[in-house]
Amino acid sequence: MSYIDSKYLSIISPQLLKFKKKGDFLWNFRCPYCGDSQKSRSKARGFVYRKKNDLFFKCHNCGAGTTIGNLIKYVDSKIHKDYIMERYRSGVKTNNPEPEFNFNAPVFRKKGILKGLQSIEDLPTDHPARVIVEKRLIPSKSLCDLYLCESFFKFTNSIIPNKFPSLDGDHPRLLIPFRDEQGEIFAYQGRAFGKEQPKYITIKIDGDKDKVFGLDRVDRSKPIYVVEGPLDSLFLDNCIAVAGADFNNLRGDLTVIYDNEPRNREINKQIEKTIDQGKKVCLWPDHIKHKDINDMVVAGLTKEQIQEIIVDNTFSGVAAKLRFSEWKKIDERSMAKAIRQ
Ligand SMILES: [Zn+2]
Repeated sequence: MSYIDSKYLSIISPQLLKFKKKGDFLWNFRCPYCGDSQKSRSKARGFVYRKKNDLFFKCHNCGAGTTIGNLIKYVDSKIHKDYIMERYRSGVKTNNPEPEFNFNAPVFRKKGILKGLQSIEDLPTDHPARVIVEKRLIPSKSLCDLYLCESFFKFTNSIIPNKFPSLDGDHPRLLIPFRDEQGEIFAYQGRAFGKEQPKYITIKIDGDKDKVFGLDRVDRSKPIYVVEGPLDSLFLDNCIAVAGADFNNLRGDLTVIYDNEPRNREINKQIEKTIDQGKKVCLWPDHIKHKDINDMVVAGLTKEQIQEIIVDNTFSGVAAKLRFSEWKKIDERSMAKAIRQ
């Protein structure tokens, strides 16, 4: 991508309402063509996104779609002249390719049932909920789709009547939405901010769907990491989380990463099943003492270091069986027996 495109997008950005950078090559603002919603001043459904080597604009309200060049021209024709000149001087071809409109990314994250809740990104930086989340070093680009739910029981009852028969002990939780491929919310998880038990409560809205987190972001054509906790999944590339869900239905090139919990019979059985299904599993090496990926990050490991440990400790098939039997620390004799079998 030409840096000139993103440079000029930032030059015109003061003229774009609610302009926000949402990701590495994703920006969001109120659509200058349709003005977005007249009723709601907070709606912003215009996106600039990258496709191959160029930036394009698309509005999820009016459906307008065009090149970044045309967007700049529409917003400010004077700045557009500078843009054309700078591209010309740097040798970038002036004719932008025609945009393709059959694109499916970015998934538009509707607030839907979450309207009325504030995202962590929208909270003041000293808000206790935001402070807790930021202490966990959750990537900042994820904060726009994590929410503060002040009264978790009451909120849930407003969606599923009587889900919590009593509001006694109601308390705030971090709300983590589970979205399907189209960005629709079909479940959500409430994570306690403090010592409230249970630490995680997962609420299914659409009972037919498996509780898999990250379906709106995953690229199924690439290797996929599968972890247990939604927040953990935010630290790795192309990673989803299965919140206690059976992931037999998941297809693709999967590497399953269990939490690094004390080795108990239940977990061992699950790991064994995963290996038998031919999936790749990461078996954490002994020197890693942290219980999950988020703890590793908080302890100072970088994403690259963690991904390297995962790659180095991922096994499948016979190799996985061998490593697993070692990992379980079963004694020499039964290990020998396992290998003979
Ligand atoms: Zn529009």
